[in-house]
Amino acid sequence: MTELFLTEKLKPLLPQYQDFLKKEVYPIELGIITRPFRQSLSIIKALREKAKAQKLFAPHLSPKEGGVGLNLMEFAQVSEVLGTSPLGHLIFNCNAPDIGNMELMHQFASADLKNKYLHPLMNGDIRSCFAMTEPEFAGSNPVNMATTAVREGEHYVINGHKWFTTAADGANFTIVMAVTDGRNVNPYLRASMILVPLDNPGFELARNISIMGDAGEDYFSHAEVRFTNCKVPVANLIGEEGQGFALAQARLGPGRIHHCMRWIGICERAFDLMCHRAATRKLNDHQFLGQQQIIQAWIAECRANINAARLMVLHTAHKMEKEGAKAAKEEISTIKFFVADVLMKTLDRAIQLHGALGITDDTLLSFWYRHERGARIYDGPDEVHKVSLAKAILKNYGLEK
Ligand SMILES: Cc1cc2nc3c(=O)[nH]c(=O)nc-3n(C[C@H](O)[C@H](O)[C@H](O)COP(=O)(O)OP(=O)(O)OC[C@H]3O[C@@H](n4cnc5c(N)ncnc54)[C@H](O)[C@@H]3O)c2cc1C
Repeated sequence: MTELFLTEKLKPLLPQYQDFLKKEVYPIELGIITRPFRQSLSIIKALREKAKAQKLFAPHLSPKEGGVGLNLMEFAQVSEVLGTSPLGHLIFNCNAPDIGNMELMHQFASADLKNKYLHPLMNGDIRSCFAMTEPEFAGSNPVNMATTAVREGEHYVINGHKWFTTAADGANFTIVMAVTDGRNVNPYLRASMILVPLDNPGFELARNISIMGDAGEDYFSHAEVRFTNCKVPVANLIGEEGQGFALAQARLGPGRIHHCMRWIGICERAFDLMCHRAATRKLNDHQFLGQQQIIQAWIAECRANINAARLMVLHTAHKMEKEGAKAAKEEISTIKFFVADVLMKTLDRAIQLHGALGITDDTLLSFWYRHERGARIYDGPDEVHKVSLAKAILKNYGLEK
């Protein structure tokens, strides 16, 4: 089906990414995700070097920047392949939140910030994070936030409390969203994005938050963080003062395509595990699990859902490329909740089909079930996207609010 969207550039590349994962990553991924992640940093580093040597590293960046130079549609399809392993995006340096920060800094950071932070990030020498959500306020309506950045001479002094700062543990810097003009009548012009190096004495990583029994570490973690009289140069501002929400929107558009295609990759791997189990698990001397109609129905439904999800996302990516993110707003909302739902259903069915084995850590399924439940919450909870899509549709029928 993806042949529809294959470009000449992508044709030879997709099998190369697939081969790399099959040979280098699938054999070791389960071992890596079931032990403390820092123990495997040297392995990740070595795999990144191999990816560079094979000219597959950073598929989203231009060759001048050390990448492969794929456009959004092409990268989306690579993202699906990489999504089949929990380590895929990290090894190829196109993992969230770094990829979002790269895109943001590329467009809006000063030359100096690019030299100091963006270039090592693109090269895979450092990691970064993004601190916007606060525990005390509804993240789904981020105009409400208490973190402030007050200008004192040539510095901002930042004070605030954030959480779910993904992968802050071990990161080199964060981009923080802070209120710079709390009195602006337009709430969308009150906040700005500022880069904070994490060795700043005013920054504190309070804890890695335990999620379903696992706090994780390093790349696989979500931190609660504090900024206390955290002083950074005014030159660390990204874009203009008051542009924070506009930049956040710019950061999220392509990000949703990346996530959705990664989720489709997860679905494909779970589907593969599911079919393999159905075809080999004996119920008795005469029957395999896959000979039960209910299992066959699950397999058929999952296949249809995954195919539909992929077409929807690639269509959205196509529209974004042709007409821009604003024109594709409704499609972006649609894929965000639709694909997250397909992901949850596919994982749940794959686990059910594996029986007790499905909830052990002997397959990838339980890791994904735990780590990807957030898909329905981050980058806009499902409900927010559904409401915004329905409103846009109903507007055409004369219902204004
Ligand atoms: C795995 C994961 C990673 C994350 N990474 C980051 C990160 O790196 N940086 C960062 O800043 N943040 C991050 N977040 C935070 C994320 O952006 C917020 O969780 C999200 O914006 C929702 O905010 P909230 O958790 O405060 O939920 P709330 O805003 O309190 O909403 C709770 C629930 O209410 C419902 N709801 C909310 N609004 C509406 C509405 N208008 N209509 C109907 N129902 C509604 C939804 O069901 C929603 O799930 C991450 C979250 C997760 C789960």
